Amino acid sequence: MNKLFYIETYGCKLNQLDTERIRDAFHAAGYTETDDPAVAEVLVINSCAVTQNAEKESRYRLRRLQRANPDARKYFIGCFTETQAIPGAVFLRGKEKFQIQELINHIPPYPEIQKKHVRPLIHIQNGCDLNCTYCIVPYFRGPSISVPQEAVLDQMNAAIRAGRNEGVFTGIHLGTWGKDLVPKQHFLDLLQFIDKHTENRFKIRISSLDSNEIPDDLINYLRNSRLVQPHFHIPLQSGSAGILRRMKRRYSPEQFQAVVEKLRKALPEACLGTDVIVGFPGETEEEFAECYRFISEVPLDYLHVFPFSPRTGTPAATMPDKVPDTLKKERVKQLKALSDKRRNRFIHRFIGKEREGILIYPDLVLTDNYISVHLETSTKMSPGSEIRVKLIQTTAENTVTGKLA
Ligand code: SF4
Repeated sequence: MNKLFYIETYGCKLNQLDTERIRDAFHAAGYTETDDPAVAEVLVINSCAVTQNAEKESRYRLRRLQRANPDARKYFIGCFTETQAIPGAVFLRGKEKFQIQELINHIPPYPEIQKKHVRPLIHIQNGCDLNCTYCIVPYFRGPSISVPQEAVLDQMNAAIRAGRNEGVFTGIHLGTWGKDLVPKQHFLDLLQFIDKHTENRFKIRISSLDSNEIPDDLINYLRNSRLVQPHFHIPLQSGSAGILRRMKRRYSPEQFQAVVEKLRKALPEACLGTDVIVGFPGETEEEFAECYRFISEVPLDYLHVFPFSPRTGTPAATMPDKVPDTLKKERVKQLKALSDKRRNRFIHRFIGKEREGILIYPDLVLTDNYISVHLETSTKMSPGSEIRVKLIQTTAENTVTGKLA
């Protein structure tokens, strides 16, 4: 009877990619994956600590697994601040996460076939050299380390061999790719290298880029790129200049706006999204109003809005003038409502039109410019296939229906 393993993953794409490597290692070590933690010999929780709640949930799940299967060997790995151990579990933080006894010498540098991802995650970078005052990530993931372009190409060729048509560039701070390499390189160099060495149908989606890492030559490249999907997620965090300074972000609202407007001009049909943190310590009514007003003036198509979550060990966690949760909730609600309006406005531009996309499920397509389209009739094509779809209408539930074009 095959040995069984069970794994749960929380958090970012890079955590999911780390899990894919661990999954491959278990298979190489002769284990089979089970969805039932009660029957597994080894249980792994790949934890996230980007917010207090995320970490609480990971630890809560570990206690539940402890009760469901007391005899199994348990590993709590990844990002966590709370080091108080739970009996019966081995804690492996940050880079130690791969030191799982059963898998030593089996961890591949990159996952081979990511069965669970029809748009495989392509690992290009890890860590971060910066220190935004609210962010705990550099504490776990260490300094920025770039994956050499040849190794990025290997991962893409593995995805192409697996019949995939889109890969998602994944890391912690993609825009700093190349800075640690000798000789120093830039993110654009990686794209141009990939461009030269891959077939012309495989596409890349860039998971996130900071506005101060999108220079004009990159925008000029993206304008005509056949490789990069027209969807850019550019974290803003706040539209208030004062808050950006207290966050130690490296751009002003004006600099952010200039980049977004240049992208909008260069790629009118691209989807432009952002992240915003609400309720940062000391955020006054005036600063929130400044943030809301700023976002209302910038051509963005959606917002991911997060209430500020103090992370032990970060400077922001000890900053004075905490914003009450009720006020945070109200401000999140206002920005989410703005995001819904923007998303609808963006989607309506493409109703009646055709877009290239990737088949995610037999009845669901993700378009190149980041619209999820529910097919009126399912298709027999295999997930991951490139597909052309006509957007027909939006529904009361705010979804979009469409048909094969
Ligand atoms: S850039 Fe800032 S927010 Fe992003 S990972 Fe680095 S420290 Fe965290």
